[in-house]
Amino acid sequence: MANDKVHYIAVGILATSGEEGEGTIKVVPWSSSVRLRAAVRVSGALLLAAFVAVFLPGLHFVLVPLLLLGAIVGGIYRFTRGETVSADSLNCPVCSQKLSYEQDNPSWPLALQCSACGAQMTVARTN
Ligand SMILES: [Zn+2]
Repeated sequence: MANDKVHYIAVGILATSGEEGEGTIKVVPWSSSVRLRAAVRVSGALLLAAFVAVFLPGLHFVLVPLLLLGAIVGGIYRFTRGETVSADSLNCPVCSQKLSYEQDNPSWPLALQCSACGAQMTVARTN
């Protein structure tokens, strides 16, 4: 399952103009209290939607069970995930300036833009 400690992963960088580089990304898993709060927010919103759906004629036969199920699944999904990914040692392969990046639960590969030269690049795990 999820590693609960801060860890670093090796990444490869590929600029859209063809330059390649490599670096390190820092991954900080959220603490269980932060994940719990996020899960409660998701479940709470879906439960509220289910409550509102009770008053929709006809539709409530479908919507209420779906939203209740969604509140459970969504809450569990949210609780089991949560990390902040940031640039640790990443340099732009085009201008070699240090790249800055920070994102919660990003989708891989990461899409970055260099703030110094404006180069677009993708950052992917190398293993
Ligand atoms: Zn650059």
